[in-house]
Amino acid sequence: MTEFIQPREGILEIAPYQGGASTAEGVANPVKLSSNENPYGPPPAAIEAVRRAAARLHRYPPTDHGALRTAIGATHGVDPARVVCGVGSDEIIALLCQAYAGPGAEVIHTEHGFSMYRISALASGARPVEVPERDRTTDVDAILAAVTPATRLVFIANPNNPTGTMIGADQVTRLADGLPAHVLLVLDGAYAEYVEGFDGGAAMVDARDNVVMTRTFSKIYGLGGLRVGWGYAPAHVADVLNRIRGPFNLSTPALAAAEAALGDTVFVERCRRENARLRAFLAEALAAHGVPSDESHANFVLARFADAAEARACDAFLRAEGLIVRPVAGYKLPECLRITVGDESACRRVAHTVGRFRAEAA
Ligand code: PMP
Repeated sequence: MTEFIQPREGILEIAPYQGGASTAEGVANPVKLSSNENPYGPPPAAIEAVRRAAARLHRYPPTDHGALRTAIGATHGVDPARVVCGVGSDEIIALLCQAYAGPGAEVIHTEHGFSMYRISALASGARPVEVPERDRTTDVDAILAAVTPATRLVFIANPNNPTGTMIGADQVTRLADGLPAHVLLVLDGAYAEYVEGFDGGAAMVDARDNVVMTRTFSKIYGLGGLRVGWGYAPAHVADVLNRIRGPFNLSTPALAAAEAALGDTVFVERCRRENARLRAFLAEALAAHGVPSDESHANFVLARFADAAEARACDAFLRAEGLIVRPVAGYKLPECLRITVGDESACRRVAHTVGRFRAEAA
């Protein structure tokens, strides 16, 4: 028998990431509510910036992301020198694992936490450690109890995906205070812009040596297709990440579009307002049909059904109507469906269709 070369330990434990579905059999133009994308598309200024960048495609992009970091600093009130840009926040998560975890290390994530924490930990050779949540919410005491001398990173998303729940600044502070010096706390703020007045944890990064924040242009900035994210870190961590990231990790169009998107404050504000309004509408309409959800702070609602069978049946019912949502059994929530807050027409269709499903099942 031929013996093939084997990858490093842990890598074959990775189940490849499952993206949200985008097609529904027999439906020509389905509504995609499976990946928490912005229903209003990219900001017009970003589209124009990509057009202009097309003329410069023969040139390599800048390696230091200087213009984008300066714009991020101005928009978010952070120090541009400690911003590190990546191919989505996914890349920042991966770089953190590569730099600080690795064989022999443990990486803590929560029970229903975003799947890239586990994948990136395993890819680095580290051991992912799953910590229970309490009522689908990050449990600070459970995390602190799981820390060992081998722990290097703790990932929490705040708000969390796919639950939509959030913990307050007092809780995050308690977590940061309780971690030993050999552990870095990563605050994933992919959905931070949907929370009015929330800095995603930026002030905590400024105040400490052991906290990193990750952010993305894939959600409220409507640029998931271009892959731009960033991390905000203490100087010593930013320095480490910059040593290991690819020098040309972000393309010229991606850098230009992200910078332009930051300037389109009218677009971002409208998206935040519409999301809050329609999220409340959707949650209330689902609840009126007997489908509860936790209060969501993000751009999706985690609809909770009686059991896994009902969730699967409703998913199929919605799909037959051209409405694609996200089953989250892989996140240990088989009785739930995660539904992105779409535009007004999409939210009304989802509410109406879930109502029909429940009426027919009764
Ligand atoms: N963190 C969380 C919590 C997310 O939900 C996502 C996107 N699904 C990401 C990070 C990664 O986003 P991106 O790589 O597009 O920035």
